[in-house]
Amino acid sequence: MLGLMQDWPLLVSKFIDHAAVNHPNREIVGLLPEGGKFKYTYADMAKRSKMCAQALERAGIQLGERVGTLAWNSHRHAEIWFGASGMGAVTHTINPRLFPEQLIYIMNHAEDKLLFLDITFVPLVEKIAEHLKTIHTYVIMVGKEHMPETSLEGALSYEEFIGAEDGNYDWPVFDENTACSLCYTSGTTGNPKGVLYSHRSNFLHTLVALAGDTLGIGGQSVILPVVPMFHANAWGIPYAAAGCGAKVAFNGPHHDPETLHQLMMDEEVTVTAAVPTVWLGMLKYLQATGKDVGKLTTVTIGGSAAPRSMIQAFQDDYGVRVNHAWGMTETSPLGSLGSENAAVQNLSKEEKLDIQCKQGRSVLGVEMCIKDDDGNDLPRDGESSGGLYVRGPWVVKEYFKGDAGQILDDNNWFDTGDVACIDEYGYMHITDRAKDVIKSGGEWISSIDLENAAVAHPDVAEAAVIGVFHPKWDERPLLVLVMEEGKTIGLEAMNAHLVKHVAKWWLPDDVQFVDELPHTATGKISKKDLRDQFKDYKLPTA
Ligand code: AMP
Repeated sequence: MLGLMQDWPLLVSKFIDHAAVNHPNREIVGLLPEGGKFKYTYADMAKRSKMCAQALERAGIQLGERVGTLAWNSHRHAEIWFGASGMGAVTHTINPRLFPEQLIYIMNHAEDKLLFLDITFVPLVEKIAEHLKTIHTYVIMVGKEHMPETSLEGALSYEEFIGAEDGNYDWPVFDENTACSLCYTSGTTGNPKGVLYSHRSNFLHTLVALAGDTLGIGGQSVILPVVPMFHANAWGIPYAAAGCGAKVAFNGPHHDPETLHQLMMDEEVTVTAAVPTVWLGMLKYLQATGKDVGKLTTVTIGGSAAPRSMIQAFQDDYGVRVNHAWGMTETSPLGSLGSENAAVQNLSKEEKLDIQCKQGRSVLGVEMCIKDDDGNDLPRDGESSGGLYVRGPWVVKEYFKGDAGQILDDNNWFDTGDVACIDEYGYMHITDRAKDVIKSGGEWISSIDLENAAVAHPDVAEAAVIGVFHPKWDERPLLVLVMEEGKTIGLEAMNAHLVKHVAKWWLPDDVQFVDELPHTATGKISKKDLRDQFKDYKLPTA
């Protein structure tokens, strides 16, 4: 027997409609890429999101077609999220930090038809435009008065693009399983892979993001999502903020501590979220200037492990609660969060800090387990460490266009590539990473691409790259080389060779030489053994 409740498709347009009706005067503010600050309300955002939807329809965008964004966090970017997805297209958020070849690859793979881009990225897109096979319209996210000279054919200004519309528009209603947004992850081996979120997955994810124990946001919150809208949906914050009427402060292209701090003070920010590298800079800034954090009560830290000293400094020196979160592009991204449950309430301060250094308990909707190499379940004893597997309604089922084939096991578990243990209270702790990628400042570096580039050097016999701890960037690449007999090379010369193949920020911080690299039984380089070999090694840049 089926229940007798209403069929109300879970569409993300409902968030902005809700905000417009229930929180029409709540403010959105933002620092603009073209300079200056902007302020308006949810009522304005809702109207302009509809104007954006109308403009996309006029530009010929059809249901299911991909609309790219190459943009910082801003009110315009949020309007596109609601406008494009709301009218039935797929919002494809593109990470501008990728190497040009990767950008070309993913825009062609996604078959983006229209690209919204910030003025900051005009030179970048001009350089690659001839390779972008499917984009027929470029919209630069500024007003007409700020339109740059550009070789991008027929480029329009965003304000002109949406300004021709009236905003009298009813969001179309369609199946909640319709594709809503697309985000490529480079946190896997091989080419970046697309994670295609549905309206339903984004809606359910938002409900959990709004739960009391999750990000700590509600109607009174003023939230500053420093985490970019192009990386794992800014942890769902733009949807969640509209869903509860929180004021949002967008930092635009600014990530330096001074500007972020000023924005926090000016807008009386209460909640914020970013990767550890951002908070390390902020803590240093606060300590150097003696400034306080104003109204800030909660900071969510994720993307990489939050160091103990950082958690302690926020809590003890600034009275700010730290929420340590774990997630992935493949998990929309919220997977686990470190809020306190009743079982740990009475532990000592030190014990609680130990728990906060872990990556938290799974949120409702995400199931988690750890398995050994043979696929056997491991106990939740805080010691047994194995591959971390997840499943749930906002966890990926397969990558866009079936890339990488079947990615779930027979019981629908997705292998995260992280290695973890889970304790008796349910707190998960990442202990290692099985996937062969390095996370630096929240963004991925492919060790395989670096290795391939290194062995292309005629004097190199074999090369391996591992991630090594770095206090600012969390991890940086270390290149380990076996040289051809009688040959030597320095870091500078090696990097001069590598920079022809990879982005500058990928270049290794150091090179070490060995007579041979450890190999597995199947002849692959054993990164696990290599990491063990270099476990006491310290980078000269650290
Ligand atoms: P991404 O898809 O780029 O968001 O990266 C997801 C990956 O980042 C995870 O699989 C982890 O390897 C890593 N990660 C995310 N959050 C944390 C955390 N709190 N601690 C350690 N690693 C993390």
